[in-house]
Amino acid sequence: MNNENLKQVEASIKAEELKIKNSKAKIEKYKQQKKIIELEIQLANATKSTAQQEQNTCTDCGTAVSEDVEGFSSRKYGKILCRACQNQHTKIQ
Ligand SMILES: [Zn+2]
Repeated sequence: MNNENLKQVEASIKAEELKIKNSKAKIEKYKQQKKIIELEIQLANATKSTAQQEQNTCTDCGTAVSEDVEGFSSRKYGKILCRACQNQHTKIQ
């Protein structure tokens, strides 16, 4: 009788240990998912800021230009130039 009880208790311990193991595996999986999502967000933000920088930077001197200047320069000179550099280039139209 005591032997039976011992086996039952041992089986319960094993079952609970297995649950804990599975839970830990799930937690690790979620943590990895979280990391991947965080990295994707970081990457998206980095790409965004890089794209913005490239869009709004003078191709000659690297000075940041506003969207207005960028639009004007693209139309008139075919590339992005700041106001100072625009004077050193010939308008294409
Ligand atoms: Zn410039």
